[in-house]
Amino acid sequence: MQPAAESARCDNRMITDAQQVLAVAPLAYVAIDAAGDVVAWNRGARDVFGHRGDEVCGRDLADLIIPPRFRPAHRAALARLAAGGPGTVLGKRLNLFAVHADGHEFPIEMVLAATSEPGGPLFHAFAQDVTIAQRVSRFAAVEAAVARGLIEAGSSHAAAARVAEAVGANMGWKVTELWLADDDRRLLCCTARHAATGQRLGAFAVDELELGVGLPGRVHQRAGAVWIPDLAADKVSFRSRAAATIGLHVAVGVPVSAAGHALGALCVYGDHIEDPEDTLTALLAGIAAQVGQYLERRRSEELAVELARTRNEFLALVTHEIRNPLAVITAATSLLDEDLETFTVTEQREQLRTIARSAQRLSVIAEDLLDLARLESGNLALQLADTNLTAIIHEAVQAVRPTAEDKRQTVRVDVPENIEVYADPYRIRQVADNLLSNAVKYTPGGGTITVTAAVTPTDITWTVADDGIGIPAADRPHLFRRFYRASSAVERRIPGTGLGLVITRTIVERHRGTITLDDTITRGTAFVVRLPIAAPPAENG
Ligand code: ADP
Repeated sequence: MQPAAESARCDNRMITDAQQVLAVAPLAYVAIDAAGDVVAWNRGARDVFGHRGDEVCGRDLADLIIPPRFRPAHRAALARLAAGGPGTVLGKRLNLFAVHADGHEFPIEMVLAATSEPGGPLFHAFAQDVTIAQRVSRFAAVEAAVARGLIEAGSSHAAAARVAEAVGANMGWKVTELWLADDDRRLLCCTARHAATGQRLGAFAVDELELGVGLPGRVHQRAGAVWIPDLAADKVSFRSRAAATIGLHVAVGVPVSAAGHALGALCVYGDHIEDPEDTLTALLAGIAAQVGQYLERRRSEELAVELARTRNEFLALVTHEIRNPLAVITAATSLLDEDLETFTVTEQREQLRTIARSAQRLSVIAEDLLDLARLESGNLALQLADTNLTAIIHEAVQAVRPTAEDKRQTVRVDVPENIEVYADPYRIRQVADNLLSNAVKYTPGGGTITVTAAVTPTDITWTVADDGIGIPAADRPHLFRRFYRASSAVERRIPGTGLGLVITRTIVERHRGTITLDDTITRGTAFVVRLPIAAPPAENG
C-alpha cells in the first residue's frame, strides 16, 4: 500500500473523482474486497471480460473470470493477502488466464494493488487482454524457427522435418504435415510429419495420397487454403474420418508453391483453433512461401549438379556410342581401300554392309540427340490427327519381328481392333518402336514379348512387357533421365544411349498421357502407357 505522500494530485481543479477516471480508463479495472467479491468494475473490464458492471457487483470474482483450475490458488492467495501476509504478487506484472463471459479462455496481463479502506482492505486489479500481443510473438517465434530450420538443414528432407517441427511445437498443433507432389506430379508424398507427444496416429498416418484426395490433395489441387472446421462432419474424406477417431477436430491447409505452380501443401490438425481464420491462414501461407522458395532454390542447385552430370554422361556417350561405329567404319573403309582386289564380291558386300550398319547406328544417335534437343527447347510440335493405334502397334511389331526371330523370341500381340486416338501418328510410332526395340534388345534369346491394350471410355492403357533381364529396383527411379542406363544393361554390355525412354516419355506427356514401369511384375520389364482418348490441347504446327 502506497504511503499517501508518494503520490500527488497536482491540481485539484482538474480531477475531482478518481473513481470517475477509473470508470473510463481503457484498461480493465476490477476491485474486490477481502472475500473476493466485486466492488468496482469499469467499462474496460466489461470490454475485456464481457460482463456488465451491474451483473457482477457483489459476486465472487473467481466464479466470474478465473478458470476453474486456478480458483483454489486464487482463493488461497487472497486469504493470505487479507490476513496481512506478504504481498508478493502486489505491484508485479502477472501473466494469467481469464475466462470470458462467452466461455472462451484468454491470456491477460495484470497488475494488483491494495488499499486500506474503512470497511477493510480492497484489492485493485488493472488488466488487459494480451491475446494479440502473445499471438504476434508466438507467430514471430514460429517464423524464426522455420527460417532457422531451413538455413540449418542439409537436405530438403531435413528441411521439411524442421519446418513441421517448428510449426507443430511452437503453435501447439497435434499433427503438422508437409506434403509434396512427386516429380511426376501424380502423387502427394508426406515429406514430414510432426505429432505432439502422446498423439496416436493410427490409420491417419498414410504417406501417399492421390491428387485431390484428403486435405493435402484438396489444398494442392485448388492451390488455395482449405479449412475443415469439423473433421468428424467431413464425410467425403477417409482421412478426415481417421483424424476424428484419433481426437483431431479441426484442420487447416495452405498450398506450398513456387514460381506460380503448386508443389504441395502444409497442413495442421488440432483439437481447437485459437486464432482467427484469416490471421492463421496468413501465418501458414507465409511459412509455406518460405518453404516454396527454399525448395525452388534447392531444385535449381540440383539442376546445376544434374547439368554437370549430364555433360559428363554426354562425353561418355560420345566416347562409347559414337566412337565405336566410327572406328568400325574407319577400319572397314581402310580394309577395302588397302585390300580391295583380294576380296571377293561377297566379302566386299559384307564390308559395305558393316559400314552401312554403323552409319545407320550413328544416324539413329544423331536423330535421338536432335529430337531430345527439340524436346528440351519445347520445339517439338505435334501433328495431331485421328490415329489408328492398333495399326501403329502392328506395324511396329512387324518392324522388330526379324530381330526377334533371329533371337528366337516370341512376340504376342493382344490389342483390340481399331483403337482410335487423336494423336501424332509419327510420334506414337516412335513410342511403339522405342518400347518394342528395348523389349527385344533387353530380352535374351528364346524370351517372350507381349503387347496388350485395353480401352475405357476415357483412355487407353497400352502395355509392352517382356521376360528379359529386368531393371533393378535401385535403377527404376532414374530410368527416365537423359543418358541413364540401368546396371543390368551396362553389366551385360548391351549397347544403348539412354535417350529412348526420355524421348518416349516426353512424347507421351505431350499427349497428356503417362508412362510408368509396372512394379508388380516379378520377372522382366513392363512399361505401361496411358493415353487419353480426347484430344490434347491445341498443339498443331
Ligand atoms: P537405351 O536402350 O538406348 O540404353 P533407353 O532410354 O531406351 O536407352 O532405356 C534406358 C535404359 O532403361 C536402358 O539402358 C536399360 O537399362 C533400361 N531398359 C529400357 N527398356 C528395358 C527393358 N525392356 N528391359 C530391361 N531394361 C530396359
